[in-house]
Amino acid sequence: MRYHDVALIVAAGRGERAGGTVPKQFADLLGVPVVARAIDAFADMAVFVVVGPGQRDLLAEALCDRAVAGVVAGGATRQASVRAGLEAIEAAGGAARVFVHDAARPMLPRAVLDRLGAALDDGHDGVVPVLAVVDTLARADGGLGDTVTRDALVRVQTPQAFRFAPLLAAHRARAGYDLTDDAQVARAAGLEVATVEGHEMLAKLTHAADLDRAGRALAARLVSRSAMGFDVHRLEPGMPLWLCGVRVEHSHGLSGHSDADVALHALTDALLGAIGAGDIGTHFPPSDAQWRGAASARFAEHALGLIDRQGGIVDHVDVTLICEEPKIGPYRDAMRARLAEILRLPVARISLKATTTERLGFTGRGEGIAAQAIATIRLPEDL
Ligand code: MG
Repeated sequence: MRYHDVALIVAAGRGERAGGTVPKQFADLLGVPVVARAIDAFADMAVFVVVGPGQRDLLAEALCDRAVAGVVAGGATRQASVRAGLEAIEAAGGAARVFVHDAARPMLPRAVLDRLGAALDDGHDGVVPVLAVVDTLARADGGLGDTVTRDALVRVQTPQAFRFAPLLAAHRARAGYDLTDDAQVARAAGLEVATVEGHEMLAKLTHAADLDRAGRALAARLVSRSAMGFDVHRLEPGMPLWLCGVRVEHSHGLSGHSDADVALHALTDALLGAIGAGDIGTHFPPSDAQWRGAASARFAEHALGLIDRQGGIVDHVDVTLICEEPKIGPYRDAMRARLAEILRLPVARISLKATTTERLGFTGRGEGIAAQAIATIRLPEDL
C-alpha cells in the first residue's frame, strides 16, 4: 500500500547528555513518554519509528496500545537511521510525502505541520521549520572570539517534510556521510529546500533540565475539563451484580449486553465526554456480539487510553450510585480501590457516593439501579 503522508520518527538516540537510566525519548513527560507524545502529534498519519539496539522493548512499553505502521532498526548515525526508516517505508509500498521528526521534540504544534504540508503543496521538494536566532553569537576561540552576524542564521528544527521519492534518492546517493539532518542530505543531492516558521515549543530535549522545562511548559498549557455520565440498568432476579468493577452479593443483578456495570458505564461516558469523544455506545455498540458479557472495566480503560493519547491527565472522578438496595457502604472501599486500579489513579482522587430516592420512582421500587459520574481532567490546549 502506498501511503500519502507518512511520519518517520527517529528515536534511536542513546540520550547520553540527558543522563538518567533511560534515553530521553523514552522518559516520562507529564504521564506520557516523550516518544509517544511525538507520535501522537501525527495522529492522522501512518507512523514508522526508528529505534537503536536494545530499544524495541522500551518503545513497546512507551507505545502502550498505540499502533504504528513499522518499527525499524536504526544505523550508526542519524543519517543511517533515517535511511533505514525510508527504506522500510519504501518496502511497505512507499509514500507521496514523508515528515522526518526527532522523537526528542515531543511538542509539535498543529500549525507547524499545516505550514509544512502547505509548502509541499506549493511544489517544494522539501521544507523545514526554522526560527530566527535572537541571542548574540560569537566564536569560542579559547576565550570569547568575534561575534558572528546572526541575520543570516536560523535554527533548524524538525519535522522536516519532503516529497518521499526524491528524499529516498538523496539518502541513497549520499550514504556513508554523517549529515545531522535531512535538509542537508537533500541539499547535498541538489534538492531545493524551503523554510517555514518553526515554534519554540518544538525545542529539542537534550539535557535533563530540558525535560523539566518541557514538563512545565506543557503543564502551563493544560486546561481543565469536566463532563458527566449517566446510566441505568434493570435489576433482574438471579443475575450476578457488578458495580464499580466489584462483584456484589445480592438477590438481583443488572441486565444488559455487557456485565451491565452501571457505575462503570456512567464513568466511561463521563471520561469520553471530557474529550468530546462521543459515548460508550459509539465505541462499543450493543449490536456487536463481542461485548456480550464483557467486563465493563475495559470500556473505562479504553476511554482512559483516549485521554492519554491526547496528552491528558485525569484529576478526579466522582461516582454516585442511586438505589435502595444493596447497601453500598460495605463495598465502598473495595469499589474505590477497584476504580483507582482501573484508572491508574490514587484512591484519594476517586469519590464514590450512594443515595436512595426515598422509595420513589424506578430506583425506589427496586426495578433498576442508576449511576451518575463526573470526570475532571486536564488536557493540553491545542499547541
Ligand atoms: Mg449501560
